[in-house]
Parts: sequence; C-alpha cells; structure tokens
Amino acid sequence: MTIRTLLCLTLIALGAFAGCLRPERSAPSDAPTTPNAATDVPDSPAPATADPTTTDPATADFTTADPMTAVDTLHDAPPDFALRRIGTDAYPIPAYARYLDGVKICLDPGHGGQAHKRGYKRGPTGVREAEMNLRVAQYLRDLLEHCGAEVLLTREADVHSTLAERAQMANDWNADLFISCHHNAIGKPEVNRTTVWYHRDVDYRPANLDLARHLCQGLLDELALPDLTGVPLKSDQLMYENGFGILRHANVTAALCESSFFTNPAEEQRLRDPEYNLREAYGLFLGLAQYAFNGLPKLTLTSPADGVVPADEPATLVFHLDDGLRGRKAWGSDRQMILSDSLAVRIDGAERPYTFENDGYRLTVEIPEGFAAGDHPVEIQFQNMYKQSVLNPFLTLTAE
Ligand SMILES: [Zn+2]
Repeated sequence: MTIRTLLCLTLIALGAFAGCLRPERSAPSDAPTTPNAATDVPDSPAPATADPTTTDPATADFTTADPMTAVDTLHDAPPDFALRRIGTDAYPIPAYARYLDGVKICLDPGHGGQAHKRGYKRGPTGVREAEMNLRVAQYLRDLLEHCGAEVLLTREADVHSTLAERAQMANDWNADLFISCHHNAIGKPEVNRTTVWYHRDVDYRPANLDLARHLCQGLLDELALPDLTGVPLKSDQLMYENGFGILRHANVTAALCESSFFTNPAEEQRLRDPEYNLREAYGLFLGLAQYAFNGLPKLTLTSPADGVVPADEPATLVFHLDDGLRGRKAWGSDRQMILSDSLAVRIDGAERPYTFENDGYRLTVEIPEGFAAGDHPVEIQFQNMYKQSVLNPFLTLTAE
C-alpha cells in the first residue's frame, strides 16, 4: 500500500497543532484519499512512489545523483519570461483589469527550503511542489503589478518559514487579499483536478468565498483540466477540525489554491514548463481581475474614529460603507449599490438594530445602555450589487 495518501495540505494544517482531528463522515466521491496518520507530520518519510529507481530518465532531465533530493527541478526560464508575454495574444489584459489598481495582494508560495527531505512534496520523477508554487506566484505578481496592484510575496526564494509567519506578513501589511498557492498530491496518479479552499464555514467570512470562487473560475478556464469535481470550493474543515494553519492565522480575506495534482505524471511534467506555470498564473490573474472589477467592499468606523468609547455611557457608532463601486462615479452610481437585506450588525455576537442612509453610505448604531469597560468585537456584514461581501467585516471597540 502506498503511503502517498496525503495531500500537500497536510503541512498547511499543521499551523498550531499536530494532532489533527478529522471529521467523522463518509467520504464523497471527490474526496481525497484519507490521509494516513503515520504521514500526517511535516517530516513525513519519502513516499513509496518516490523511489529513484522508478524515475523515467526520458522525463527527468534535471540531473542529480538522487532526483528525490534535487533542487531546480523545473525547466529553466529567464527572469522576464512572464513580462515579455503579458499583453500578447496569448495573455491579453482585459480592460476590467484596471480595477486591480491599488489592490494590496499578498501571495504565499507554499512550502520551500526543504529539498533535503528526500521525496518531500515531489511528483513521480522528483519535480518539487515548492518550486512550481514559487514560479506561479512570481508570474502572478508580474501580471498583477502590470495592472497597478501592490503585491507582496511571503517568500522570494527556496526558503522555509512557518505558516504563522507567512500569514502574519499578510496581516501586518494589511493586505486586501491573501492567496496561498499550492499544488496537490494523492495516492491515485490518475487524479488531477482543481480545488480552492476557504476557512471554516460559509458564514464565517463570506468574502473568502468571493475570492475563492473567482480564483477557482480562473483556474478552471485556463487550466481546463478534464477531471472536474462538482463543487471545487472546499472548506478546510473537511481536512482538519480547525482548518488549515495558513488560513486560520490570516486576519484578511484569504483562500488557498490547489491548482492541480503534481502526483499525476502528465501534470507533473506540464508543471515544469514555464509556459504552463504562466497559464496557471494568468487564470488566477483573470479571476482576481474579475473579482476586483465587481467591487471590493470595505468598512470604516468614522465615529469614534479611534475605536474608543467611554464605558457605561450611551454610545453612537457611525460607519462608512464602501461598496467598491460608487467611487468610480459611473452613471447611476448615486443610486444605492448595497443590498439592504445583506446588512447585518453584530456587537459582542448579538444582532443590533441600525439605520443606513444611502446618501453618504452612513450606517449608524445606537447603544443606549453603553458598553462595559473592555474590548467588544463588532461585525458589520454587507454585500454590493454584485453580491460581493465586505472584505473585512470585523473590528474591535474599546470601552474605557
Ligand atoms: Zn502544498
């Protein structure tokens, strides 16, 4: 029995706990092979299929004494490979991509710095996931920056950092969006499909679903893998009770892409090709461009602007809701573009009444009894006319 039953997601999940708990439920037809508990640690041994004696020399043209500890397992490409192709007939830039301008996007190329672990996160001939993740993220950065987005990568080279450190980079940078780029693994070589993962459940942070959906559609359109699962957006709680570490540590809108399976022999070889890496990045780019075009709603507390209220006194909270569209000043943009029924206000976990004025996009919450001294979590949910949810619905009020 092969021990390569483990998604590359295993490591992702090991952010803060190693004794991963899995849901007790029957596996649907599109579920991955159940991870083997013996391999469910970052230092899992080399998979059985990683025996170098099984390597096909016709496809493994990176030369090393041991392909399963090789570095630089992708085909060489010049640093400007993507830059020279952006805007050509193969990679046209749609007009709507201009709305990426100013969007802050943190890209996390998964893994890195672990080539010495024999067979770790490698395809059948030794191609490393960490390398394909990095190249896709770099090409995606080239595309996004071409359209004015601000991009931060959690790593620029083949180095290791923890999941918490990666997510913290996105948090500290106050990213609008955080995307972890991965490729998948499973014990069945015939499997090769796209999945995109969101944290927890659908109500937790609906903007995560907006991001995941757009990324997924871009991948489906551009990679066009014939193996299609019916619902390729997946909760990370399908794998681990507390979800993936990288998403759990993220305080910004986030998703994790498993674009394809490097354990599929044909896909592994495609993933070595810079043109294919760029095709994948282009799919992610188109998804992000469409997401941005549909508006990225944001929330601002305007009074009290510092988030501090006197304790035990009646309080009035005023928020400005930005639908991500009105600022474009298109014809008709003075009309309401926030869906009234999507509005919800929760303070200390309880629903609160509010008033909303289209003129100025002011949302007002009266707290006649005031707040007890201390911190109070506030959640304001809303969607714009494209049903895109506010990127960050959470803030904290302090009463003192
Ligand atoms: Zn991975």
